[in-house]
Amino acid sequence: MPDSLDQAQRLLAQLRFPHGDPPDAGTIKNVAPSVYWLRMPLPFQLNHINLWLVEERDGWVIVDTGINMEETQRYWETIFAQQLGGKPVTRVVVTHMHPDHVGLAGWLCERWGATLHMTLGDYMSSQAIRNGIVDGAETRGTHLLSNGVPADLVETFARHRGGYSKGVGPLPTSFERLIHGHPLVMGGRRWQVIVGRGHAPEHASLWCPDLNVLISGDQVLPKISTNVGVWPNEPRADALSWFLDSFARFRALPADALVLPSHGFPFVGLHTRLDQLTAHHDARLSEIAAATAARGEVGATAWDMVPTLFPRHLDNNQVVFAFAETLAHMHCLETRGHVVRRTGTDGIHRFVVVKPVPAAMPSDGDSEVFEVV
Ligand SMILES: [Zn+2]
Repeated sequence: MPDSLDQAQRLLAQLRFPHGDPPDAGTIKNVAPSVYWLRMPLPFQLNHINLWLVEERDGWVIVDTGINMEETQRYWETIFAQQLGGKPVTRVVVTHMHPDHVGLAGWLCERWGATLHMTLGDYMSSQAIRNGIVDGAETRGTHLLSNGVPADLVETFARHRGGYSKGVGPLPTSFERLIHGHPLVMGGRRWQVIVGRGHAPEHASLWCPDLNVLISGDQVLPKISTNVGVWPNEPRADALSWFLDSFARFRALPADALVLPSHGFPFVGLHTRLDQLTAHHDARLSEIAAATAARGEVGATAWDMVPTLFPRHLDNNQVVFAFAETLAHMHCLETRGHVVRRTGTDGIHRFVVVKPVPAAMPSDGDSEVFEVV
C-alpha cells in the first residue's frame, strides 16, 4: 500500500480551498452571497460538522443542525444572540437523517416555530429508527450473524444502534418534503434539490445555479470518503452502486462550482473529487475481490474481508461502519457479476469470485469516515 498520508496530500492538492480556515465555534463566516459557514463539535474521531446559514430579508434558513448535545445548543444560542442581526430562524433544512445533521432539528424548530424540510425517505427513516420501529434486535442479529460477524460482537453493534436516539432529539411530527429536481427558494434564490443514495436513504444536496454553489452534505466530501454501508433494516441493499450512480447527478454541475461539504473545507474541484472517489472505490473493489479469490471455493464472508479494507485497529464505533462498508463493496461485486453468494446450511452468506476484477490503481488508503448513524 502506498504511503496513504502522501497520497491523501497529493489528492487534496488537486482541489482548491478558497475560504481558508473554518470559523470559530459560535461564529459564522460568509462564503457566498447570503450563505454563511459555521462549525459544531462532534464527540467522535470525526470531530466537527459544517452547517450553513442562508440569510433572507426577514429571517434565516438553517441547513443541518449538529448533534443533540448541550454543547451544540450553547453554540447555537451564541450565534442566535450575536450573529443573526435580530432576525428569526424561519426554516430548518436537513440534508439527511444522521445525528450530526438532524440531531437538533426538533429543538431548533420548536425554539423558533420554524418548519422542518427533509426528504420523505430520511424523515421517515429517522422517525422509524429513533422510535425503534425498524432494525430490531432480531433483524440485526440475523443480518450480522448471516454475514459472519461473531456472536460475541453482535452486542457491540447493538449498543451502537442505541446511540441514534441519544444523538437525535424528538422530531416535529410534520415536515415539508424535499424532492429530487424540485426547487427550494432560500435567500431569494432558487436552489435545486439533488437526491443521492447509498450514504442515507434519500440524501438531499442543494444546488444554486445563480451562486454556482453546491451544499453537498455528506454526498461529496473533499478529504475523507463518505461512509457507504449496508444496514440491518435493508440487508440486501446495493448501497455502493447506488452511491456511485448518484455521481452522474453531480457531474452535470459546473466543474468550478463552490462545494460546501459537511466535513472538511469548502472547495472547488467537484469533478476532480468525483474522479478521485470513483478511483478509490474501484481500488477497494479490486482489493476485496483479490482477497476473496484467494479463498477459492470456500469463499469469504463480508466479515472476513473487513481487515482487507480496514487493516488498522478499529474501535467499537468504527467497526460497525467498517463492516457495513465492506458488505456494501461485496454487494456491489455481486451486482457486477464478479462474485456469487453461497448460503451455507449454517445460514451464512459466503461470496466466491467467479470473474476476477482487473487490478485497479492502488487504493488511497482507508476510508476514514465514521459517523454515528
Ligand atoms: Zn451522514
